Order: sequence, then structure tokens, then C-alpha cells
Amino acid sequence: MTKVLVIGAGGVGSVAVHKMASLPEVFSSITLASRRISSCDKIAKSVQERFGVKIETFEVDADILEDTVSLLNKVKPDLLVNLALPYQDLVLMDACLKVGVHYLDTANYEPRDQAKFEYRWQWEYQDRFEDAGLMALLGSGFDPGVTNIFTAWLKKHHFDTIETLDILDCNGGDHGHPFATNFNPEINIREVTAPARHWENGHWVETPALSHKKSFDFPSVGERNMYLMYHEELESLVKHLPEMKRARFWMTFGDAYLTHLEVLQNVGLTSIEPITYKGQEIIPLQFLKAVLPDPGGLGERTKGRTCIGNIVTGEKDGSRVTKYLFNVCDHEKCYREVGSQAVSYTTGVPAMIGAALMLQGVWKGKGVFNMEQMNPDPFMDMLNVHGLPWEVRELTSPLDF
Ligand code: NDP
Repeated sequence: MTKVLVIGAGGVGSVAVHKMASLPEVFSSITLASRRISSCDKIAKSVQERFGVKIETFEVDADILEDTVSLLNKVKPDLLVNLALPYQDLVLMDACLKVGVHYLDTANYEPRDQAKFEYRWQWEYQDRFEDAGLMALLGSGFDPGVTNIFTAWLKKHHFDTIETLDILDCNGGDHGHPFATNFNPEINIREVTAPARHWENGHWVETPALSHKKSFDFPSVGERNMYLMYHEELESLVKHLPEMKRARFWMTFGDAYLTHLEVLQNVGLTSIEPITYKGQEIIPLQFLKAVLPDPGGLGERTKGRTCIGNIVTGEKDGSRVTKYLFNVCDHEKCYREVGSQAVSYTTGVPAMIGAALMLQGVWKGKGVFNMEQMNPDPFMDMLNVHGLPWEVRELTSPLDF
């Protein structure tokens, strides 16, 4: 009997819970809690209809430690899967330590008042989790998550040393709105408007946001413009694979998206500095989130595919080799299966897989772990079985930019 508690009933939480329900031999009891019980009940209804599985639901504010601790004491799960927002990571890790529960998330901690995400805050929990004999698995989504596992798997099976890593994230989907974000708008816009940063010869190199643009022909999607960005998996990958001379992350954006974003930035709507409006303090970016389309509602109208993968150049048996390892995911197929688009799907499935490997004891440890520290093989096998098949190609030359 394994018991999982998922906190966060948004796009990613919905996919993860549907996928867990499809594997009752691993997830024999599923509980879903979120800030609003209505979000949980909607998912529970869909899960019951699709899989005939009943899940328990609770309302909780995961910003409040005592409330989260009392929920954990009531549910008594083996594992807490945090699919709320990065702001809740530390409270949920504290709650796990207090009650003695393993922990998993998909995004690293970010303070609300500072658009600055880094692993430092969560890595500082290493001794506390180790002493308690508990495991915390950080970043079990797609990027971070699958991209870390792709790197570890390439290193294990195809390279003696890795010289350069490029992670290429393409969303070739079209939702038909003039402007919308594919996941939580507040988190998404904070990420996209931050300066770009990549690793080169032992240092971080910072460049202005969206200032480096390249074109790439993505498998099953076609030619798209992609932009150099900073993304959180670079921090842990550089730490755990110190041999890498260069590590970069690229994401595709359409011209219309960027034009809208530029205007929103210019008029101050992406700011996280509080302003006073009619006597009330509001944060412009949170107000913007309230008027943008709900990412959870995009599934029904999104067509096209995502293609996310890693291009790695390095040495194998004395020869220089370049490999491209990627997954292609179809928005409409995801919607038919679990009622969500591919961005939530590509995050929710790896969250389910990480949780399954922890609950089965295939992945175990005491302390705080990033994905690349685990054995990539069982995770890669499960990706193929649970909706995110991958392909590896040998490229004749490394990226020439
Ligand atoms: P959503 O905004 O759709 O969902 C977030 C959910 O968390 C909502 O259901 C919300 O509650 C709930 N929530 C927010 N605050 C609290 C709180 N204080 N207490 C309890 N519940 C709360 O986000 P997504 O599903 O798109 O993203 C979920 C996570 O996944 C985020 O951390 C995001 O950064 C991460 N992510 C990771 C990716 C990866 O590849 N690694 C990619 C995409 C996302 P309610 O609706 O009930 O009010």
C-alpha cells in the first residue's frame, strides 16, 4: 500500500494525478490538496470518469506551515509531490521534515519578491533530510527533469566526457489566442524576462534577456527561432558534471509572443514591484495573470507539437561525437488522453515517474538530490511506456553557433 499526497491542482497537478491513477499497482492511494478545493474536485471528477479511481481531496494553504503539517498528519502519505508554485517549496520541505515524509517537486524555490530562482535554498536542506533518513528529489518535470536525465543517460551510455551541452526547448503549438502563456503566467513571464545566463569555461556569462537568437530545424515541428535563456537545470548540471566547458539553454518564441511581451514590459505590467491602485496595493504581474487566459483552459484549443531535447558534444573512445536526444509531444493527443495540453503533460508525466520510482524504492537516498544524480535507465524506460517516447540521433557536426 503506497500513499501519495499531491499538493497543487493546476495544469501539472492534473496530469500527474491522472497518470498516477492509471497506475494503481504503484499509486494505491492518491490524495490531492490545493488552495481551492474546487480545483481538486474538478480533477477528482475527471479521474473518476476516465479511470474509475476515487481520489481524496483537501483544501490547504501551503504557505502556512502548521496547516500543511496538520494535513500531512491527517493523510500520512509516504511521499509528498509538490506541484504548487515554486514559492511553496521551502514550507513543504519543512513540513516533510516535521512529519517524516519524502518530498518531490518540479521547480526550484523562488522568493515572491525577487525574480531569482536558485537551488541554494533547497540544497541547504541536505543535512536535515539526510539526518532524518528522508529523500527530497528536486526538479522532476521536463526541464528541469527529463533534460537532466537525458544528460545523465548520454553521459552513462554514449560519452566518456561531455564538452558542451545545449538544451533546446521548442513549443511549436498554437492556442489561437493573441497572447497567453503555456503555464502559470507569473512564473513564465518572470523566467522569460530575466537576463540570459550560460556556463562557459568555468564562469557564468550573463547577457540581456532575449538578445541571442538562432534558428533551428526541430524534428516534427520545423524551423523555429530560439533564444538563449537561463534555466534552472543549468545550475545543478554544471555542479554535477564539472567537466562541461559550456552549457546553454534555448527556448523558442514566436514574433507575436515577443511583441506582446515587449509592450507589456514597456507599460510596466510585468513588474513585481507593488503599486497602489485605488487605495489597494497590487503587483502588476499578478494583475496581468488575472486578465490573461488560464493556461489550464488552453488544452482544448492547442494544436501542434513540442520538441525538447539535448545536443551534447564530447569524446567517446578517443573520437569526437555529437548526439541529439529529444522527445516530441503532440498537444491534441495529450488533451485526448488526460484533458491537458503538452506543456502540462510533459511536466506531469515525469513528476509521476519520479514519484513512482521513489515509492517503489528503485530510486532511494538520504538527502536532497537533483535528477542527474539518480540512475537514468529506469526513468528513460518509463518515459517510453508512459507517453513521452524519446529518440537519439547522431549528428555529423556540433552546433556551429
Ligand atoms: P498552475 O498555476 O496551473 O497551478 C498551480 C497550483 O498550485 C494551483 O492549483 C494553485 O491553487 C496551487 N497553489 C498555488 N498557491 C498555493 C498555496 N499557497 N497552497 C496550495 N496550493 C497552491 O501551475 P502549473 O500547474 O503550470 O505549474 C505547477 C508547477 O510546475 C510550478 O511550480 C511550475 O513552475 C512547475 N513547472 C515545471 C516545469 C518543468 O518542466 N520542470 C514546466 C512547467 C511548470 P488553486 O488553483 O487551487 O488556487
